[in-house]
Amino acid sequence: MRSASTIVIGTGIIGIATAYYLAKNHGQTRITLIDRDQPMAFTSAQSGENYRNWWPQPAMVAFTNRSTDLLEKIARDSGNRINMNRRGYALATRETNTDELVAQLHDGLGESAEKLLRYHSESRSDTYAPFDSSDWEGVPDGVDIVQNQALIRDRFPGYDPEIRTIIHIRRGGDISGQQLGMYMLDYLKSVGVKRVVGEVRNITQQDGFRVEIANSSGTETLAADQLVNAAGPFADKIAKMMGVDLPVYNTFQQKIAFEDRKGAIPRTMPFSIDLDGQKIDWSDEERDMLRNEPEFAWLAGMMPGAIHCRPDGGDAGKWVKLGWAYNETRAKATWEQQLDENFPDIVLRGAARLNPALKAYYGQLPRNMHHYGGWYTMTEENWPLIGQMGPEGAFMNCAMSGFGTMAACAAGELCAATIAGAECPDYAPGLSLARYDDAALMAALRAANKGVL
Ligand SMILES: Cc1cc2nc3c(=O)[nH]c(=O)nc-3n(C[C@H](O)[C@H](O)[C@H](O)COP(=O)(O)OP(=O)(O)OC[C@H]3O[C@@H](n4cnc5c(N)ncnc54)[C@H](O)[C@@H]3O)c2cc1C
Repeated sequence: MRSASTIVIGTGIIGIATAYYLAKNHGQTRITLIDRDQPMAFTSAQSGENYRNWWPQPAMVAFTNRSTDLLEKIARDSGNRINMNRRGYALATRETNTDELVAQLHDGLGESAEKLLRYHSESRSDTYAPFDSSDWEGVPDGVDIVQNQALIRDRFPGYDPEIRTIIHIRRGGDISGQQLGMYMLDYLKSVGVKRVVGEVRNITQQDGFRVEIANSSGTETLAADQLVNAAGPFADKIAKMMGVDLPVYNTFQQKIAFEDRKGAIPRTMPFSIDLDGQKIDWSDEERDMLRNEPEFAWLAGMMPGAIHCRPDGGDAGKWVKLGWAYNETRAKATWEQQLDENFPDIVLRGAARLNPALKAYYGQLPRNMHHYGGWYTMTEENWPLIGQMGPEGAFMNCAMSGFGTMAACAAGELCAATIAGAECPDYAPGLSLARYDDAALMAALRAANKGVL
C-alpha cells in the first residue's frame, strides 16, 4: 500500500524537521515542501542558535532534553557538521538569594534535582571547570551553582565584579541551525522529497487537501492526503484558511553580531545572561534627553533582565552576538524586518553591564556590524503547538517562540509520530491543543515564569 502523501507548508527548521522525521522514522516520503522562499530563509535565519534544557516545567525539560539527544545523534552521525558545542548557559546575578531560581530548577528537574544541582561555595573548587566544554561529549549534565566571588572572578574574570551568583546550566550551548536544516534537507532530497516555491493563498478540503499557491509562473494547485502547518509567524493565517483559530501572537525581537576586534569577549565564554534588571548606561546628558522625548522615555528608566551575549564562530572565530528580547508589543507579522535603528546602541550598553570590556565599542561599533531580527511566534504560556489541528489529516507544528532551533528535532519527531499514528512521548498532550482542556495545567502555566529568552 502506498503511504499517505503530505504537504508541509514552511521550510523553516520546523517544517524541515517534521518532514525529516516523517520520512526517516515512518517511511513516509511522499512529501512536498512548500515555501514562498528558499529553505531556512525567514525566522530560522535569524536565530541566535542557542540550546538549553533549562525550563521551569518537567514537560519542557523532557522535550528539550529529547531534542538535545537528537541533536547529539546528528552531530555524531555527521562528524559534527552542526558545530554543536556545550559551553552551557551562564546565568549571572548580583543577588545572593537565589531561592526563586533554585525552586524553579527543582520544579523543572523534579526528582533528579538532588543529583543534578551542584553547589560551589568554596574559593577552590576543582570540580567546577566551565571551559573544557567545546567537547560536548565530556561535559556533565546538570547545573553548577557558584556563589563564591573569588571562584567567579577566577572563572569569569571579564564579568562585572559585583556578580555574586552564577547558575551554569551545563546541557546547553550553540549549534549551527543552518547546517542542521541543510543536513536534513540533504536526506530529504536523497529519499525523493519534492520542494516547491510558492506562496500559499488558499486551502480547500476535497479528497484530502488542495493547496493553491502563487509564484512567478502564476498559480498552481497541489493536492495531498495530509497537511502540516509549519508556517512560523504566519501559522495563524494558514490555520484560518482551514477555519481554525490558533491562540498565537507575534513580537519582533532583535540581535546584533559584530567582529570583536578588541577582544572584549573571551572566546570560551558560555552564552551569558545578565538576569538583573538595569538602567542603561547612558551619560546624564543622554538620559535627560531621553526622558524629555515621550517616545524614548522608557529607555531612561528601568529595563528588564535577560540581556545576553556570546562569542560566535568557535574558538578561532572573532564575532560576538548580543540580544535582548525586551519587546512585548504584539504585532501582526510582516515579511519585512521591523528593525529599530537604536537597538544596537541599546543592546551594546545593556550588555556592557555584565561584560564591561564591551564599553570599548560605545559609539564605535564596527561598520560590518550585522543588525537583524525576526518574530517570536508564541502562545500566552510560551509552550509550542504540536499535533492535530482542526480537520482530520491536518497538523500544526508552530509557536516556537525563542526556542525553535533547539526544539526542532523533538518537535519534528513528535509531529511526525502524531501524523503516522505512532506512539508518542508523555509530553505530547501538553504540547498539543488538548492542553487548553486541562484547566489545572493551564492555571499552573499561566502562573509560572514564561522563560522568554
Ligand atoms: C532574534 C531571534 C533569536 C532567536 N534565538 C533563538 C535561539 O537562540 N535558540 C532557539 O532555539 N531559537 C531561537 N529563536 C527562535 C527560532 O529562530 C524560531 O523558533 C524558529 O526559527 C521557528 O522556525 P519555523 O520553521 O517555525 O519558522 P520560520 O523559519 O519562519 O519558517 C516558516 C516558513 O513558512 C513560510 N511561510 C509562511 N507562510 C507561508 C505561505 N503563506 N506560503 C508559503 N510559505 C509560507 C515562510 O516563508 C518561512 O520560511 C530566535 C528567534 C529570533 C527571531
